[in-house]
Amino acid sequence: MQEDESDLSGATPRRRPKPDVLEVGGRRLKPATLMMGHGFDPALSEGSLKPPIFLTSTFVFENAAAGKRHFEGVTGKRPGGAEGLVYSRFNGPNQEILEDRLSIWEDAEEALTFSSGMSAIATLLLTFVQPGDVIVHSGPLYAATETLIARILGRFGVAWLDFPAGAERHEIESVLERAKAMGRVPLIYLESPANPTNALVDVEAVAAARDALFGDHKPPIAIDNTFLGPLWSKPLDHGADLSIYSLTKYAGGHSDLVAGGVVGAKALIDPIRMMRNTIGTITDPNTAWMLLRSLETLELRMSRAGENAARVCDFLRQHPKVESVGYLGFLADGRQADIYRRHCTGAGSTFSLYLKGGEREAFAFLDALKIAHLAVSLGGTETLASAPAAMTHLSVPDERKQALGITDNLVRISIGVEDPDDLAADFDQALAGV
Ligand SMILES: *Cc1c(COP(=O)(O)O)cnc(C)c1O
Repeated sequence: MQEDESDLSGATPRRRPKPDVLEVGGRRLKPATLMMGHGFDPALSEGSLKPPIFLTSTFVFENAAAGKRHFEGVTGKRPGGAEGLVYSRFNGPNQEILEDRLSIWEDAEEALTFSSGMSAIATLLLTFVQPGDVIVHSGPLYAATETLIARILGRFGVAWLDFPAGAERHEIESVLERAKAMGRVPLIYLESPANPTNALVDVEAVAAARDALFGDHKPPIAIDNTFLGPLWSKPLDHGADLSIYSLTKYAGGHSDLVAGGVVGAKALIDPIRMMRNTIGTITDPNTAWMLLRSLETLELRMSRAGENAARVCDFLRQHPKVESVGYLGFLADGRQADIYRRHCTGAGSTFSLYLKGGEREAFAFLDALKIAHLAVSLGGTETLASAPAAMTHLSVPDERKQALGITDNLVRISIGVEDPDDLAADFDQALAGV
């Protein structure tokens, strides 16, 4: 099939009617309920309760006139987008159902899904930046995101300035002012909680600073919401325009797939979709199907992991071999606690454990764990532990590691959905051996 023209598509080819039962008896249904059926009509698939996996590269038009009509929509010749499915680099039924369900959690107009968290971020950045632009971002960011912005986009004449995650409004404003003086600011990019420090960004303060400094052409605020979203943090409610996910983590939740997502207003999602149509960073049908299954248990899994983390952190905090525990649930006062109370409804289940000692103690602890696995990543059903200074952040320069609190005695832990007392027993025996 020729699909040259459709590279310019900004529209979702959409065959299914935008669904279904969203309220019952005047009561608006909650995301946990909608994850079971929203966006899928069994009558379109032989009555199958679950959506089949649509393994096809292309879709048959009803007749030539319909094909023309779809392409008018795909190419933007006619407003409103294509009425049908066209070609699997643009979209497919599994991806569309997934996108409808993903947008529910943040009450967003639209969502897009991608082949990885990084391909979501790369597609977003390619959509908005031009040579001479200055990206303003919070720091630290996920290491690959920092590389993409500083080293890769840097090769194409894009500069960046950053402010520390916990910055106050006036600090954010002064960084934005400096950036404005250097060039056009195409977007403000945030990550909260930041990886691996768990530092929170004040999204409301960023939005206020942006609104005070930019008139009609406000750069969109995009935020990586992987760590607490979509259950505990809904940044679109606090002034962000786009919320980004590594769906590999909590949304996928079983450490068995890699995917990404972006949710937000249609006006911003449309140009990102156009870029995705062109470069082909869409998630595949099989992964989309797996994510549909994952989303059915998202609230169950994140709630249980959150309760487990609270239990385990309580235990770890009072252990004599532990120096401190960097867990959002322990924020009591100060600026971070204030941001936490305004922006988050739960502490999540990924935290930092600082042992007394250094690398030797951290390694002894990691090697002694019997339930928790020694692996990077987070958000799965199983508990994982790693040493950022020696692993994910090995290449970060020493001074920057020190400034970010990425010390040799730091162990990062992502708590799963196991029995909490079993987990506490595992940490207890591993600490005993240190
Ligand atoms: C894992 C992760 C990413 C990258 O996602 P992939 O799915 O691995 O491409 C981006 N941001 C954060 C915060 C992450 O934890």
